[in-house]
Amino acid sequence: MKHSDDIPSALAQELHQLKWILSSLHMKGIEGWPTRFRAGCAPTPAAGETVCTGASERLSLDAIRRELGDCRRCRLHQGRTHLVFGEGSAAPGLVFVGEGPGFDEDRLGRPFVGRAGKLLDKMIRSIGLERDQVYICNVVKCRPPDNRTPEADEIQTCSPFLLQQLAALQPRVICALGACAAQTLLGTGSAVSRLRGKVHSWRGIPLIVTFHPAYLLRNPSQKSGTWQDLLLVHRILHPT
Ligand code: SF4
Repeated sequence: MKHSDDIPSALAQELHQLKWILSSLHMKGIEGWPTRFRAGCAPTPAAGETVCTGASERLSLDAIRRELGDCRRCRLHQGRTHLVFGEGSAAPGLVFVGEGPGFDEDRLGRPFVGRAGKLLDKMIRSIGLERDQVYICNVVKCRPPDNRTPEADEIQTCSPFLLQQLAALQPRVICALGACAAQTLLGTGSAVSRLRGKVHSWRGIPLIVTFHPAYLLRNPSQKSGTWQDLLLVHRILHPT
C-alpha cells in the first residue's frame, strides 16, 4: 500500500483548505481573528442533534444544515428544485463524496438516487455495507445547469460546508468519487487516474480516490480499477 504523504503535497492541501476556511469566514462577515479563544465555545447541541464532539469549530450536522438555510451564496441556487445536503449514518465509518446533484437528486432532494446512485449502491454492497451505514454527500449542494461541472467559484463558496460535514462526521475513511471531489479535498489539479490506487489523507483521515459512478456508466472498462479502490477502502475499515 503506497502512502502519498510527502510534505509539499500535504502542505499544499492544508493551504488550499485554509484558503477556503478563510473565504467562508469572510462570507460570514468575520474579517479577523479574535484575540483570545474561549474553550468550549461551540454551540450546545439541541436534543436529537447528531454530532458535536468538543472542538470549538466543529458543528453538528444539524447546525451545518441550519447554517446553509435557504442558501443563495452562489449562482447554483437559481436553477435548483431542492438543496441536496447529504444523507446516511450520523456516525459512519465511510463517507462518499461526489460532485453535485443531478436531475433525480435535484428533484428528490437526496444524493445519488439516479442511475449513478444505483451503481453506487452496488459499490457499497460490494464491500459488505448497506447504504444507510455510510454517509453520502457532494461538493456542491445544488444542481449545476445541465449537470455541468461546478465552476471554481461555486466550489469555493460551497465546499466549506462539505469540510464542516466531514469534520462533524469524523469517518474512518473518505472515498472521493471523481475529479471534483478528489481535487477539492486534496487541493490538487491531478487527474483521478493519477490519484487513485493510493491512500491519501484529509486532516488525518485516510482518503481513497476512485471514479465517479456516472463516469463508470459511460466507461464500464474502468470498473475493475474501481473494485481495486474499494478493496483498499475495505482493508482500511477491516485491518487484518
Ligand atoms: S451550491 Fe452551495 S453555496 Fe451554492 S447556492 Fe447551493 S448550497 Fe449555496
